[in-house]
Amino acid sequence: MDARLFGTNGIRGVVNQDMNCELALGVGKAWGTYLKKKFKEPIVAIGTDARLSNDMLKTSVISGLLSTGCNVTDIGMLPTPTIQYTVKKKDFHSGIAITASHNPPEFNGIKGIERDGTEFPREVEEEIEKIYLNRRFEVVSWDKVGKLSSWDGAVDLYINDIVRLVDRKSIKERKLHVVLDCGNGVGSITIPLLLKKLGCKITELYCKPNGRFPNRSSEPTPENLVEIMEKVPKIGADFGVALDGDADRSIFIDEKGNYIWGDKSLTLMAKYMLLKNKGGKIVTPVTTSQCIDDIAKKYNGTVIRTRVGSPTVARVMMKEKAIFGGEENGGLIFPEFQYCRDSGITITRMLEILAREDKTLGELIEEIPRYEMIKTKVFCPNERKEEVLAGIYEKIKEDDRIKNIDRTDGLKIFTGEGWILIRPSGTEPIYRIYGEGKRIRDIERLLEDYKKLVEEIINS
Ligand code: MG
Repeated sequence: MDARLFGTNGIRGVVNQDMNCELALGVGKAWGTYLKKKFKEPIVAIGTDARLSNDMLKTSVISGLLSTGCNVTDIGMLPTPTIQYTVKKKDFHSGIAITASHNPPEFNGIKGIERDGTEFPREVEEEIEKIYLNRRFEVVSWDKVGKLSSWDGAVDLYINDIVRLVDRKSIKERKLHVVLDCGNGVGSITIPLLLKKLGCKITELYCKPNGRFPNRSSEPTPENLVEIMEKVPKIGADFGVALDGDADRSIFIDEKGNYIWGDKSLTLMAKYMLLKNKGGKIVTPVTTSQCIDDIAKKYNGTVIRTRVGSPTVARVMMKEKAIFGGEENGGLIFPEFQYCRDSGITITRMLEILAREDKTLGELIEEIPRYEMIKTKVFCPNERKEEVLAGIYEKIKEDDRIKNIDRTDGLKIFTGEGWILIRPSGTEPIYRIYGEGKRIRDIERLLEDYKKLVEEIINS
């Protein structure tokens, strides 16, 4: 484990290699030391996804926390957004999700949750990192060790509060038929119950938690969702929805079996949130398609672009009092429920749209402006990333074919044909290069030109 403990999505690694009991114990102790400085008698909620290594890591983290005098409540096997909601609603001082989201089964991770249910901001991670790396743990005397309890009300709390928030009457009357693919992830614990409560007819695919993910990989990409894409039109369902391993992200399949990219579902939802609120602010990273800007313009909204990463999106949403936000990977954030990516409220809002509209999901998606997006990557050692970015900027800043350069995250270059984004990955030694525009040929050419430029600078 290097000097940085937390990555873009908490602490992740392969079980019993870099993600082992010793690490989990140390993280628990560091976390507890941090909390004890902030609160007099901290209580921490801990929950897990459906992975095989959860008990091992959970008990290690719990031991570490107890040793510093924090009390811990085990809230069970739950989707990450359900853990986040419970932390916020039941007034825990902090929360921990043992999860590796969509990663392969041999992985696991530890994710930090703030008192308000949001993911840890970078500053908190840094403080915990510092305590961990310098081994500045503060354990308590024998008579002040923390206590462990459990609570099993999180599923009911989460489902009932979502149902209360939406137009359940319209949803119930429409009796929509949904194919639900949980991919044996932990969404199986809440989403089938939620859909039943809303009067939907459900056809389930892999809605039993299984930490081996025996039926499909946990990432909801088109290659992994072939089965649900065939199933939806075959049985005449209204739509399909597939989740990632910890159920914060949801990907929709239209009535014809078409995979709907996250940009499109994000934009469709943005349209309805803008109509509902008569305008407002939408927050999304620089990587999301231009179609969201077109829709915002049309429905009296403004789009605020951020760096990549859902904690950043959530924090900017709070600061800007945004009405909606999210990422292009199916992670949508509805602030009226909570400031984190959440498949439960996302699916319910989708049901609400379809219940009130006379159109199918496919028809609604057709109405969203079309752009072509392509992506590529270039190898770049981590230690050279900054210098390379500066080098690219120097090369292009005087180029008069460029209309605008946005430096929010990497370099987003706007030309007459569309935009190109050159961005160092936060997790891998690569530069990601994205391109989007109306005509695929133009974008392919642009992407090729900029890829060459990035390679030249890396090799110089
Ligand atoms: Mg996830």
